Amino acid sequence: MQNRSRGAPAGYQGAEMVARSAGRKGRRHRAAKQDLHKTSTRCWLCGHDGAYELDHDPPRKMLLALRLDPDDARYHKPAHGTSCPCPTCGKRCNQVKGDRPAPTPRMVHEW
Ligand SMILES: [Zn+2]
Ligand SMILES: [Zn+2]
Repeated sequence: MQNRSRGAPAGYQGAEMVARSAGRKGRRHRAAKQDLHKTSTRCWLCGHDGAYELDHDPPRKMLLALRLDPDDARYHKPAHGTSCPCPTCGKRCNQVKGDRPAPTPRMVHEW
């Protein structure tokens, strides 16, 4: 009567380790996303269809700096991202553009 074949600890999926506190207000953000989908799913970065990520233009950081509301639909643009790479050019436009972290020098990782 043994039903367990795997020893993986339950609850450890690993995939979603993203901090919830990333500053995006969950519910409003999701609603905004849906609104955006109704308006357009054409990526504002590469111009192709099938973009389901919500991008900000101007960038969120700038909106916050200007004390504007990043949840205002006026600043929302559809873009491709990790969850929906562009079916046409394969880019993850949102991340490609991203916040552009300083180019990382090649580092030797010790494994
Ligand atoms: Zn795109
Ligand atoms: Zn594209």
